[in-house]
Amino acid sequence: MLVVMEHGADQAHVDAVLAQLETLGYQGKCLEGSERTAIGIMGNTGYVDAGALMQFPGVKEIIHVTKPYKLVSREFNPDSTIVQVGDVRVGEDFVVIAGPCSVESEEQVMAAAIGVKEAGATLLRGGAFKPRTGPYSFQGLKEEGLKMLQKAKEATGLPIVTELLSLDHLDVVMKYADVLQIGARNMQNFELLKAVGRTQKPVLLKRGMSARLEEFLLAAEYILNEGNPNVILCERGIRTFETATRNTLDLNIVPLVKELSHLPIVVDPSHGTGIHSLVAPLSKAAKAVGADGLIIEVHPNPSEALCDGKQSLNLDNFSTLMNDLNRMQL
Ligand code: PEP
Ligand code: MN
Repeated sequence: MLVVMEHGADQAHVDAVLAQLETLGYQGKCLEGSERTAIGIMGNTGYVDAGALMQFPGVKEIIHVTKPYKLVSREFNPDSTIVQVGDVRVGEDFVVIAGPCSVESEEQVMAAAIGVKEAGATLLRGGAFKPRTGPYSFQGLKEEGLKMLQKAKEATGLPIVTELLSLDHLDVVMKYADVLQIGARNMQNFELLKAVGRTQKPVLLKRGMSARLEEFLLAAEYILNEGNPNVILCERGIRTFETATRNTLDLNIVPLVKELSHLPIVVDPSHGTGIHSLVAPLSKAAKAVGADGLIIEVHPNPSEALCDGKQSLNLDNFSTLMNDLNRMQL
């Protein structure tokens, strides 16, 4: 439930509502919006009968939030969230995050960063801690890789998006990352979600490969509930019966997320398809359905990539795609 305060309500009005909620046995949480203040009741499972609150001075309306997620819901916060990363405003500008799946060497990440920057990308991606299906595959360069990303950032000005795989790596990844990526495999690692929720660092939360939208939004709720509002959702495809593509990119959820949540959502057509020739058409489709941006794997030489070469664009193809995206009229 959400108690929406009048525009002119002051702190005393808010405190009176919070005190009354406590008397009723609920815990209220104050949510400051740009237009108005609202007070949310957290943790209730059933209907809250607090209609008498309408009698309190400064109370404008009471909205019953029917969803299990609260803080991420648009019912709770009608203003779309904008996540600021350096100069980039995710949720306002159409953002393109690009770079290699994994950081492999200084030359590789530098060439990728310079190339994607030239083509118009505004954030640099690159994994240093990699979640690989098998233990014999390349696992990432760890802190060495983060240092290479740092150099690429210094050369290009592009902020870094990189995956946080484990709680054990929180401190080191925090040191270099501008955006903490929580991968599909960790979408329901609740301790990790809570830990990033206790920071104020922007988080790119990828959808689990078999997560329903409600589970995805509840995962985001964990982060907001700990106090970090800076969450960017990422649709990266789900497992279906179809094996012709690596995953089935579920573009349905993009406009649905826009209805249900105020959080920005970007699309990952690289993991969503697994095939480089499908990345450009699905990128355009993502923009057409209202995504706030894209995260795309780009490698200076995809045939030599240590990870996900099959789905990576080379710099020429990425540049062509960026031109096409810029020309798209919506
Ligand atoms: C990645 O971005 O390289 C990655 C591992 O993504 P996901 O968690 O979506 O599989
Ligand atoms: Mn990858």
